[in-house]
Amino acid sequence: MQPDWEGPLGEAYARAMTYLQGLPVRRVGASVTADELRARLGGPLPHQPANPVDVVTDLAEGVEGGLVATGSGRFFGFVIGGATPASLAADWLATVWDQNAGLYAAAPAAAMVEEIAAGWLVELFGLPKQTSVGFVTGGQMANFTALAAARHAVLRNAGWDVEVDGLVGAPPIRVLVGAERHDTVDRALRFLGLGTRCIVPIAVDGQGRMRPDALASELGHGPTIICAQAGNVNTGAIDPLDEICALSGDAWVHVDGAFGLWSALTQPIPGLAEADSWATDAHKWLNVPYDSGLVFCAHPEAHQAAMAVRAAYLIHDTEKRDPLDYNPEFSRRARGFAVYAAIRALGRSGITELVDRCQAMARRFAEQLEPYVLNEVRLNQVLVSFGPETPQIVQSIQEEGTAWMSGTTWQGKPAMRISVSNWTTTAADVDRSVEIVRRCVENRRARSTQG
Ligand SMILES: *Cc1c(COP(=O)(O)O)cnc(C)c1O
Repeated sequence: MQPDWEGPLGEAYARAMTYLQGLPVRRVGASVTADELRARLGGPLPHQPANPVDVVTDLAEGVEGGLVATGSGRFFGFVIGGATPASLAADWLATVWDQNAGLYAAAPAAAMVEEIAAGWLVELFGLPKQTSVGFVTGGQMANFTALAAARHAVLRNAGWDVEVDGLVGAPPIRVLVGAERHDTVDRALRFLGLGTRCIVPIAVDGQGRMRPDALASELGHGPTIICAQAGNVNTGAIDPLDEICALSGDAWVHVDGAFGLWSALTQPIPGLAEADSWATDAHKWLNVPYDSGLVFCAHPEAHQAAMAVRAAYLIHDTEKRDPLDYNPEFSRRARGFAVYAAIRALGRSGITELVDRCQAMARRFAEQLEPYVLNEVRLNQVLVSFGPETPQIVQSIQEEGTAWMSGTTWQGKPAMRISVSNWTTTAADVDRSVEIVRRCVENRRARSTQG
């Protein structure tokens, strides 16, 4: 049987082009309410089949106004990248080819592309040659996977086999993390059965960097994992990894570098290669479509001890790389294709230029919003505060629609985050967005003085 692929895929292609080509002029924020979306898309469970073309058409029309244009050059919320053409096209093909990229035997090309991209990434970041790599869904699962390897290694050193014996009765693990860590670290520790009470928060400086003096006094009390950070989500600050690694002794050092790791391409991060594991995202600064995260481990045997599976019906070949030995999923999407294509299309120089450009655009924001800036702008994050009315101002910027930024609380103060993570952001995008920010601040002030 030859199904009608042309109808629904042709419709999807036409709509994709309209969407992508409209990004530069499109409103950035969503414009419909949850009730409207529910009314448009909901209804009773369908009983009868529907024409696939109609399904695609109705879906595309139903979501209109409910999409946030995160691919826009004026989207500055959270830390969300867009998608480059080559990576987006490769991701489409990953869906078309529909490979189950768990095992080499089931998906040789997908496994090989991951092996090749893994080697490129290790070289790109200057990590130790033997470093193993897993292609996961995001920074959350990259942190989870790396911390699983860390849990294995620190307990093995204490004479405990956590994969076999679990955690009941195991020597306690202390996890030393900066007070300004990302919440996904705590969540990974929950998933790993370590719980959040194992966390020993380490004092940070005004930029959110872990203080080595505070770390030193907590070391040397049994199995220990140090969770450092390259790229604080609010300030972009990078922990002093050289000092942390020098102090670490037999503790495992993990680096959460979800976006900050990419800044190593424009400015070396001292001590980066001395850590034991690293987490980063491809869907943030590399501008690969969602979802795509990367985990690196300098100790492949610990990585595999934590992740690998052997089952009688699976076909393993020691000469071949089976992706499921490096990530927590079993059946999985061939997400390596998009990463491979992104690296092929940009090359080292293109990726470096992309990172450099985002950083330059962040500095442009910081120069123009100078009186409001709270952080040292070294990476792509600008943290600003307009005082107690900041949350209302953030909301009015989002509602205006030209640009989109998100709010936060930084060391007890309400603030607004500007994250420049999109490969298409231009100086003109920054200037237009600054205009809107200024106008929203003035409007709010005018309204407040009117009383
Ligand atoms: C975004 C981020 C994460 C989580 O990554 P996801 O890809 O959203 O799972 C973890 N740590 C830091 C520092 C981040 O910026």
